[in-house]
Amino acid sequence: DNEARWRDVDSHLVGELVEEDDALVGARELGRERGLPAIEVAPNQGAFLALVAQMTGARRVLELGTLAGYSTIWLARAVGPEGRVTTVELDPRHAAVARENLDRAGLAYRVDVEVGPALDVLSDLVDAGSDPYDLVFIDADKVNMAAYLELALRLTRSGSVIVGDNVVRRGAVVDPTSDDPSVLGARAFLHALGNDPRLEATALQTVGSKGWDGFAIARVC
Ligand code: SAM
Repeated sequence: DNEARWRDVDSHLVGELVEEDDALVGARELGRERGLPAIEVAPNQGAFLALVAQMTGARRVLELGTLAGYSTIWLARAVGPEGRVTTVELDPRHAAVARENLDRAGLAYRVDVEVGPALDVLSDLVDAGSDPYDLVFIDADKVNMAAYLELALRLTRSGSVIVGDNVVRRGAVVDPTSDDPSVLGARAFLHALGNDPRLEATALQTVGSKGWDGFAIARVC
């Protein structure tokens, strides 16, 4: 069936192209061991995020939704030793696992794990006059995606890049009968991306080991 084929192709792509070392594999496994949900990005998606960070020369990255720190490790490696990642996680148990994983990967010094609702943490960063971030990866609760985008615009500069994950949701994004808050959140996010003169954006559907979904990518004008 389709899903099995997508998974096989993802395995092939990862086997050919993506170097997942012990720290990355271990981060995912520790998440499983501690009962965290298996909702981290796929290895080829982690590599994609790292490439975006490197292609844009990002030194300051903001991530919403840490989970076990799997995507955080990709991003923290991509920014290099002088770079810094701020990652925001609501659940203190997830944040604790992420800290353990980042320690093991030797990356703790590059990463600030902020625990709390992303809306509050981002508002605090705005109030504190935070320096702009070069890359923002939005991967927390989907309900608040449009609000995160608005805050991200106050924490970025012209040329910064914003990536939002899970905007297709097995096609539910176009289901007019859906009242799933995550679907409505993704839809509001896409609408805001497409209608905000401060942004140039596109979105791509993806299939693979994580099923049928998609991400949006935007550049701040
Ligand atoms: N970026 C991670 C990765 O790919 O390895 C996966 C993140 S997972 C999809 C979403 C995470 O967002 C979960 O750990 C969840 O606890 C967290 N989260 C949910 N609501 C949140 C909120 N309001 N503020 C911050 N984090 C939240």
